[in-house]
Formats: sequence, structure tokens, C-alpha cells
Amino acid sequence: MNQIDIFGAGARRMQMTESIELTIQSLLAYGADHDHWGVAWSGGKDSSATLTLLIYLIDTGKIPRPKTLTVFYADTRQELLPLAASARQIMDELEERGIKVEVVMAPLDDRFMVYILGRGVPPPNNNTLRWCTGQIKIEPMEEALRRHVESLEGQVLMITGVRQGESAIRDRRIEMSCGKDGAECGQGWYQQVLPNAKGLRGRLATLAPLLHWRVCHVWEWLKHWAPTAEFGDWSTAAIADAYGGDEAEEINARTGCVGCPLAQEDSALDTVLKNPHWAYLAPMKGIKVLWRELREPQHRLRKAGIERLKDGSIGKNPQRMGPLTFEARLMGLERILAIQAEVNAAATALGRPLVDMVNAEEEARIRELIALETWPRGWDGDEPIATTIMDTVYQNGAVQPRLFSEAEL
Ligand code: SF4
Repeated sequence: MNQIDIFGAGARRMQMTESIELTIQSLLAYGADHDHWGVAWSGGKDSSATLTLLIYLIDTGKIPRPKTLTVFYADTRQELLPLAASARQIMDELEERGIKVEVVMAPLDDRFMVYILGRGVPPPNNNTLRWCTGQIKIEPMEEALRRHVESLEGQVLMITGVRQGESAIRDRRIEMSCGKDGAECGQGWYQQVLPNAKGLRGRLATLAPLLHWRVCHVWEWLKHWAPTAEFGDWSTAAIADAYGGDEAEEINARTGCVGCPLAQEDSALDTVLKNPHWAYLAPMKGIKVLWRELREPQHRLRKAGIERLKDGSIGKNPQRMGPLTFEARLMGLERILAIQAEVNAAATALGRPLVDMVNAEEEARIRELIALETWPRGWDGDEPIATTIMDTVYQNGAVQPRLFSEAEL
């Protein structure tokens, strides 16, 4: 039995060493052509493994140090608390090493909570409206990089945490969807979309040096290798713990916003809640429930018939459902604030970290946008509530009168 265990550990170490060796080769092959490197880091498992390994390889001379290295931390304000707390610690560790970290955040009005609860745009879903990744992750990153490349000569090599494992590499497939195979939300976009963004084309190359890593290697690095003095003494074990400690090795956990409306389950939060230290975050289970509820018709407006677009053409989707009513936005805000207050009361009593879902500035802006009667583009607020019974209007403008009047129903 011991023999098998020893063989297992040895084989794992060998595989890790091979994976790291391939990573070194890819960095040597592509890195040398670029004086300036950046890292797109979200605090999730893959990009954290990429970042800490990269610094270890530079510090130990296994790859040459670029002229500049800038870490771009994508702060969506929607991160799971244990991950956000680890990211803060790793940021301190980076700064102790003199590495520049730029925190990238969407402007106030574009942040997830303000956009939904202030502007009234419904929570994203998989079918119709996936606005969030672009708005809270990609566009702010594009903007930060544009500023960065403008301040430098030559091309910047942007290092991402895209990881696909061996089979996907054979298929040459980069997963763009954050809901699949444990991919980290946003990393596929950073890899494929960013280099073609306006102002960045020709100025930015991307490299995913952990592309070939299997998820078990990511856990092994975060939990057992990176925290040791030999590999850099990083605070990465807590990231693996956030996904379930020892069992995390079995889980190809996806990383993304807490309560992500696009994920089937709140699995990352569920796992965190099993850890007694984080059990006080339980009220956050209500976030996903709220987002689902806010997509229902009683909380939204609807176009009454066909829609004339700005260019005079007819919209594809007559009688489509649209933004949240003011009542729904206020209801949503109160629910989020109540969740935050409940979690933070428990956190204070237990001496644990507080959550920061909606801060004072964001709350004030949400209330202001509602008070100003703000509607998303294309809506002016005099459309009927989406539960109103109407004649059916087809895309060609034909009307099918309703069979019964409301009084008859
Ligand atoms: S994790 Fe979910 S909510 Fe967050 S940006 Fe990605 S898809 Fe949107």
C-alpha cells in the first residue's frame, strides 16, 4: 500500500515537473520577443496559479526577467469573499517584491449592482443578454491596457490563466464560456478578444503558459507547492480551500462572480459554506435567487408592439421584455443590503472578514439613478408592465387580437 502511495506521489511530482517544464519552454519561446509583460489576474484558481508560478520562475532565474512586469487585477466587486481576501494577501506579497499591481474596476455606473439596480438592466442570462463579462471584466481591462501600451514602446505580452488540459489542446479549442469545464470567467476573452480590441491591435500579444495543465496540477501548485518557501511562500492555499480543501482536487470548479446568474448552481459558494469559518456567508445564497426573480415579468416593462429601431428598421423581437421597474430595483437593493447587513453582523460577532457588496458610493448612485428616473437605452418608461395582457404582435406587424378580454379571464 505504501509502495503505491509513494509511487503515486512520485508520479504526481514528475507530472508536475513536466508541466512546469513545458510552461518554462513556452515562456522562453514567446517571452524573449517582448520587453514588457502583463498578467491578467482575476484571483481565481487558474490565473492565480499562473501568476505565482510566473513570479517564482522569474525569481529563480528559470526565465529571464522582462523589462517591466505589470499585474492587472480584475476586480469585478462580485468575487467570492475567500477569493477576494486571498487576492488581497497575494497583492501585498507582490508589492513586497516590488511588482506593480494595477486594480482594474469598471466605472461606477457600469458595475454589476449599479447597472442592474440603478439603471434597471435585467440580470444577465445565458440566452438573451450576456452583458456582464464584457462590461465588468473585458472593457475595464481593455481600457487599462490601452493606457498601459500608450506609455510604453513596443508590444506587450499579456499572460493569461487560460487552461484547457490536454484534450482541448489537441482540439485547439479555447473555451470562451465561463460555465464550461471549470474555465475561469473572462480568461478566454482576455486570450482571444483583447489582442483585437481597438487601440490594442498589433500592440498586444497573449500567451497562456498553463494551457496544458490539468486541474489537479492547479490544485497541487496552489495547495502544496506555492505556499512553501522554496516556491515563493505564496498565500495560495486559501484559494484551493475556498473550492473545498482536499476534495477540491476532484472538482473542476469554475470561478466567477458570487451568485452568477449564468451558472447552473452556486457551487463555489456552496463549497465555501461547508467550511465552518465561512458558514456565516450563508445569506449570500439569496443573491442568485434574487437575480432569477428579477427576470420575471411582474418586475419588468414590455414593448407593446413592434419596435422601430433608430435606422427605421423593425426590431426582431416584438413585445420583448425589458428593464426593471423602479419598484423592482428598490426591492432588489433592499434585499442586497439586507443580505450584506446580516452577513456583516455575523462577521463582526465572529471577528471574521466583512463583505462589501454595495458600498456607500454605489448605494447613493443607485438611489440617484432611480430618483432621476433613468431607463436603459431604447426605453422611456411609459411601456406597459410585462404582465399586461396584450394582443399578440408578430414581427411583420400582424396583430392577433386576444381571444378574451381581461374581464373575461
Ligand atoms: S461570473 Fe457570471 S456574472 Fe460574473 S461576469 Fe462571468 S458570467 Fe457574468
